[in-house]
Amino acid sequence: MSYQHQYIDGTPIHFPLGKVVCVGRNYAEHAKELNNPVPTEPLLFIKPGSCVVPLDGSFAIPQDRGSVHYEAEIAVLIGKPLSRQPSAEEVLDAISGFAPALDLTLRDVQAKLKEKGLPWELAKSFDGAFVLAPFVTGDTFVDLTDIGIRLSINGEVRQDGNSRDMLNPILPLIQHIAGHFSLQPGDVISTGTPVGVGPLLSGDNLVIELAGQKGFASNVL
Ligand code: ZN
Repeated sequence: MSYQHQYIDGTPIHFPLGKVVCVGRNYAEHAKELNNPVPTEPLLFIKPGSCVVPLDGSFAIPQDRGSVHYEAEIAVLIGKPLSRQPSAEEVLDAISGFAPALDLTLRDVQAKLKEKGLPWELAKSFDGAFVLAPFVTGDTFVDLTDIGIRLSINGEVRQDGNSRDMLNPILPLIQHIAGHFSLQPGDVISTGTPVGVGPLLSGDNLVIELAGQKGFASNVL
């Protein structure tokens, strides 16, 4: 995917689609549900731009690699370069948009990799592993520590989180990330998933939304 057909509130995005920097276990309740320890510093991993697909109507999941889990997350679009531990003001200024997204995870594959202490790419970076809805503008939310994210599947709410429960809130998280990986316009930060993850099945109908914003429906193929 490129951002060619992506919009921020109706305005085309001119950035190239970059990498997606993700944080694992950023909500204590979610870390507990998978029997993971709550990390003392952000657990970061990167999904390449090649695994990003738009959330518009339908998307496909792998059929032959065990269970595919949904993880609804607040995605942040970076619009200006950030590196070397930028100030909170610089980060705020660099945020171009927010969108709901799905960090898809091959949970069985990941469990095996974790057992052996191996990297997570096979479980996290396959084609189609990041499903991204359209963005709203970066100034949509006055308080970044109060953004709701909700996922319903087949009419039932499965995840209903809020950025206030993040162990690493959005601004310090992006400051930390930029201290390790330079961020470029077009990169996306995926800020972790709240409690309630589970398997996604072909035929599921889902709706994902940021609180107070338009919801996006999609069909799982
Ligand atoms: Zn995630």
